[in-house]
Amino acid sequence: MKPPKFDYFAPDSIESALTLIAEHGDDARYLAGGQSLVPMMNFRVAAPSALIDLNGIATLRGIKVDKNSRLHIGAMTRTREIEMDSTIASANPLLHAAAPHIAHIQIRNRGTIGGSLAHADPAAEMPGIVLACNAEINSIGPAGPRSIAAGDFFEGIYSTALQDGEMITEIVFPPWPAARCWAFQEISRREGDFAMIGIAAWFDLNETGEISAASLTAIGAGDTPLRLPAAEEILSGQPPGDVLFAEAAQAAVNELDPGSDLHASAEYRREVGGVLVERALKTALQREAPGYTA
Ligand SMILES: Cc1cc2nc3c(=O)[nH]c(=O)nc-3n(C[C@H](O)[C@H](O)[C@H](O)COP(=O)(O)OP(=O)(O)OC[C@H]3O[C@@H](n4cnc5c(N)ncnc54)[C@H](O)[C@@H]3O)c2cc1C
Repeated sequence: MKPPKFDYFAPDSIESALTLIAEHGDDARYLAGGQSLVPMMNFRVAAPSALIDLNGIATLRGIKVDKNSRLHIGAMTRTREIEMDSTIASANPLLHAAAPHIAHIQIRNRGTIGGSLAHADPAAEMPGIVLACNAEINSIGPAGPRSIAAGDFFEGIYSTALQDGEMITEIVFPPWPAARCWAFQEISRREGDFAMIGIAAWFDLNETGEISAASLTAIGAGDTPLRLPAAEEILSGQPPGDVLFAEAAQAAVNELDPGSDLHASAEYRREVGGVLVERALKTALQREAPGYTA
């Protein structure tokens, strides 16, 4: 399949990209890795009149930790770089562990974190991880730069808070405590397929061994990645353990809102979601308490 005709521009600065997208109107789109947009064009699901290619803008790439231990990742950073980067392995091991679940190496070599967030597939890993980590999504558009909390960014299936012409520039993750317990679990039909359902979990323990903060997020379980606040609440302030984890998993099942498709029914996704919550919490605890066996 070939895409419909389009104009192509390759700016080398954010300013030029913003000017080009303003000149070419609502039908123009940014091109990142092209791993979602180009298949959609080939299938004629998308027919942009112009593509503004972000690949030549060096300032949109890169990984760094600032003096406040926050991790900054440029929007055009490839998901393969996230998977391979040793800074990310320590600055946000949950993100690092989720990256290899995205598609195949060839797709990760091109696909970018910014593209994945802007595309906002509810089963995609990066949107789930930014939500789980309370990350900020920095952008710039006709109204200037702004920072969008991950919790406000995803509005529906393939729908985000980005306005026309607005570009994601950077994703900023809060500091990651070294002792944090965490795990990422997903089930897909085959390696490289989108998750039928997945769970990102982390919690911190206080000095007396109780859970002082907890985060549970599901992908493939609704129109957007979903935080599971009732399950998080059950964990909060309690000493971790099997009974608590089973209780949190039960609450999580009631918070999931998956649909049915040819890959799996909603009932299957909900049931497996509960299993994955329990499994993720146990794996997370094992990481910090090697003596613990589930
Ligand atoms: C066979 C296959 C399997 C896949 N499996 C998975 C999977 O398991 N998990 C998963 O998460 N993904 C999967 N993907 C999708 C892949 O991760 C894409 O790379 C990703 O969704 C989009 O990133 P991209 O950089 O390729 O963006 P593009 O395809 O270039 O762009 C996607 C959309 O985002 C917009 N956009 C891109 N960058 C920006 C920006 N900086 N600011 C504003 N808008 C922007 C574009 O205009 C477009 O609308 C799969 C893709 C394929 C082809």
